[in-house]
Amino acid sequence: MNENLKSKNLVEMEALFKEMGQPRFRAKQVYTWLHKGVRSYDEMTNLPKALRDTLAEQYPIYAPQVVRRQESKRDGTIKYLWRLHDGNCVETVLMRYHYGNTVCISTEVGCRMGCAFCASTLGGLVRRLEPHEMLDQVLFTQVDSGLPVSHIVLMGIGEPLDNFDNVMRFLELVNSENGMNISMRHISLSTCGLVPKIDELAQRKLQISLAISLHGPNDEIRNRIMPVNKAYPIDELLAACRRYYAETSRRIHFEYAMIDGVNDREEHAKELLRRLKGLPAHINLIPLNHVEESPLKPSSRAAVAAFQQTLEDGGLTATVRRTLGGDIDASCGQLRRKYTKENAQKE
Ligand code: SAH
Repeated sequence: MNENLKSKNLVEMEALFKEMGQPRFRAKQVYTWLHKGVRSYDEMTNLPKALRDTLAEQYPIYAPQVVRRQESKRDGTIKYLWRLHDGNCVETVLMRYHYGNTVCISTEVGCRMGCAFCASTLGGLVRRLEPHEMLDQVLFTQVDSGLPVSHIVLMGIGEPLDNFDNVMRFLELVNSENGMNISMRHISLSTCGLVPKIDELAQRKLQISLAISLHGPNDEIRNRIMPVNKAYPIDELLAACRRYYAETSRRIHFEYAMIDGVNDREEHAKELLRRLKGLPAHINLIPLNHVEESPLKPSSRAAVAAFQQTLEDGGLTATVRRTLGGDIDASCGQLRRKYTKENAQKE
């Protein structure tokens, strides 16, 4: 298992402290401190100095550094670009909803899924994040902003189900009683559609919300914009969603980025209605965020409204996502991309 102390669960931590000849309660003390977002063992004031020194030497605390922090003047959304201990950068966004502050975290540095509209995948996958690196995004966003975080969405850079074990451990950590204790029901995980992993997730029977990035009503359209569909075509994906519902009784959320002339016609809405029939679902329509490198353009407001109406008329709950942080490059991978490009130009 992972050697970083903050990626361990309490049981593993207790085993380690036992090996070190330390009393068991020390493990819980350290666990609790780490989950408060301390940057140094010296902040753990109820620990003997000798133990702090040993831990500092054997298990350095990694904490991300803020490279950029942008706050939206319109809606208070805050976007962080963090530098990790190896120099890689990831983004986190804090959104302030009426039901609570929500943090959108990255699960990987880059992504290998290759969706045509997404900035996160342009440079490919650099590496997967460790459990504590996901936890750190939540912890340090809370520490830096001073705003209590109650909800988490795994919708930042990366494909969470392509980093399955680390993401599962992250969920365990952030949900733990001695940690942030964030309810599974307040966590959403979004995937582009890795079918075997959706089945694996279903077996865990977690109470998280599952979001599927659908973005098209059929194979023809999905193949064009989402390479993952060639491995797992839409019927297989929706069958997995039905199995997921059968296992968890959790309604599935579908994300649908509206792309001008690609997936936004009435016939597409009707096809979607046919395909999703009988599946307890909610559709989130997202006007595409234009990415500089891509020829794809957002649908018009009128097209989005008409699409929503067709879905609603057909009995599907469809909402149009309010875009937050539009003035601060707050969509998927844009800030990291910009920063990497600027720095490449400097070199
Ligand atoms: N890899 C996961 C989670 C990260 S992306 C997934 O694919 O679901 C979070 C959401 O943002 C996904 O639905 C993704 O398709 C969408 N997205 C990416 N780029 C976008 C863009 N330019 N405009 C609108 N939505 C976008």
